Parts: sequence; C-alpha cells; structure tokens
Amino acid sequence: MSINATDRLDLLTRRRLLAGAAAGAAMAGGRGGRAGAEASATVHKFAVGAAEITVIADGIMTLPLAFAFPAVTPAEASQVLAAGGLPDGAVNNAVNVAIVKTGTDVILIDTGAGGDFMPGLGKFGDAFERAGFKPEEITKVVFTHAHPDHLWGIIDPLDDGTRFPNAQHIMSAIEFDTWNAPDIEARVSGPFKAAGVGTKRRLKLIAERLTMRRAGDEIAPGVSLLGTPGHTPGHVSVLVTSNGGALLIGGDVLTHSVVSFQKPAWIWGPDMDAAAAVATRLRTLDMLANDRIPLLGYHMPWPGLGRVERAAAAYRYLPV
Ligand SMILES: [Zn+2]
Repeated sequence: MSINATDRLDLLTRRRLLAGAAAGAAMAGGRGGRAGAEASATVHKFAVGAAEITVIADGIMTLPLAFAFPAVTPAEASQVLAAGGLPDGAVNNAVNVAIVKTGTDVILIDTGAGGDFMPGLGKFGDAFERAGFKPEEITKVVFTHAHPDHLWGIIDPLDDGTRFPNAQHIMSAIEFDTWNAPDIEARVSGPFKAAGVGTKRRLKLIAERLTMRRAGDEIAPGVSLLGTPGHTPGHVSVLVTSNGGALLIGGDVLTHSVVSFQKPAWIWGPDMDAAAAVATRLRTLDMLANDRIPLLGYHMPWPGLGRVERAAAAYRYLPV
C-alpha cells in the first residue's frame, strides 16, 4: 500500500506532535512526576552467593562543580572529569537504591529522594512496584544516613507515613541524634540546605518505626553494618556476605566514579566532616582493593556495580 503526499505529511505532523508531547512529559517527570519515571525506569538484578540483589534507579542528581568540589576550582574539577570521560560542566550522579533478599528477609537499603528534593529524582517508588515488589514484603529498611536523597523517599506522599508498613526501620543512633540536634540547620549547605528541616520532619513521621543500631551490628544473617563516618557523623555502609561472595553497599562513602577514586583527598561538598570523610574514603578504598570486594555505589553510574583497583598514586573504579 502506498502512502500519498497528504498522508505522509499527516504522519510527519503526528510524529512531531507525539515527539513534542513526549518531551513535555519528560520535563514534567523531571520534577518527580509519574511520566518521567515511566520513561527512565531501570531495574538490575545480580547475585552475591545465595543473596539476590536488585538495584532500582531513583533518577539523576545534578550538582554544580563549585558545590561538589569546594576545595578546588571548577576549572580544575572540569579537567579531571573530562580526563575521566565525563561531561565537565557539572556532576550528574545516578541514585541507585538496593534491595537485598536473603533467607526470609527482604531488606531495602536507602529509599531514594521522593518527589520533593530535586528535579530528576523521586522515581524509585513507581519503579519498585513495576519491578514486581510490594511495599508489604519489605522486612527491613536500612538508612546509610539521613540525607534527602537517601531518606526522603521513605514517606508515602498519600498518607504521610512510611511506604513500608511491615518493615523494621534501621538507622545508626549517632545519625538519628545528629539530625535531631538543634544546630543541624547550620551544619548543612548548598542544595542540601533544606535537608535540616525536611529530614527532621520525616524522622518524626517514622520515629515509632525506628530501631537504632550501631556500626558492626548484624541486621540479618550475612548482612552487617560497617561504620563509615564522615559524610555524615553516623554514616554506615552495608556489607553482604554469602557463600564466599561479598558486596559492599557503600552509601555515600564513595560518591563520584572518577574523583572519589583518583582524588580521594578532594573534599566532597556534602560531607559534614571533611577530614573524617577523607580518612574513611581512603580506608574503604584500601579494603575494597585489597580484599577484592565489589562496590555497589549509591551514586556510581547505573547500575552502580564496580570494582576498585589501585592506579598510579590512587585508585580506579571499574564498572562490572
Ligand atoms: Zn547521596
């Protein structure tokens, strides 16, 4: 069947209109709307021994260079990013939420940002359900720390309580006390300024569900908390071991796929205690390289899984 000129023009016009509508939907989705989540949902599964790991994308977090790397000039930062093969104008970090299924536990590690923190984030909730998970089946939620991109997704916007009604909510006691301190607003800066008030409000909403644990605690067989303070005072990572396999779900110990590895001593803007964060970064890099433990990085490029190798005077991140 041939298409005459009028029909072809009609097809082209419709295609353009559809493309325009899709672009509009994507822009609306950029504020955490449903349409954007549909367009970019991503789920990745792999195994660590008998444990099943699922990574779910919450979106992309964009930070200005001057905020991300306050100790160097944006030009210097740009140069390192470009040499690492990344766009050099800003930091565009993935946000990778993990679910660990082991034994009878289904453990969610961090929750994404929800819809209120930053354009481009907040896609986790929809992607989680499209991936076949039900909120009721999560038995534990572990917060590596209480920054908005890790904690704010815990709240169900429809009923102002937790999204995961059957889960024990786990946080380090140091982290909880930090965010409930009267001076917290003064301790966060830049795009995280809103974190003080917003996080306090959300912690209040889930307070009855929270269980305080310490670094070193095992929260399920083969799943334990590793103290990694500095980014925030109570920051913990999650170490999964099963049948000889291991994985570090790092939270924000290592936040940039080039700079955290090649320039681990550079200050990362959102770090609350820069000196402690650098020390923890170096210790973690050393451990991951020596023990050959893969990293699932909350902000590494999708899906966030990689290995750490020594390179020149520092390290290199190798996506798996
Ligand atoms: Zn983060």
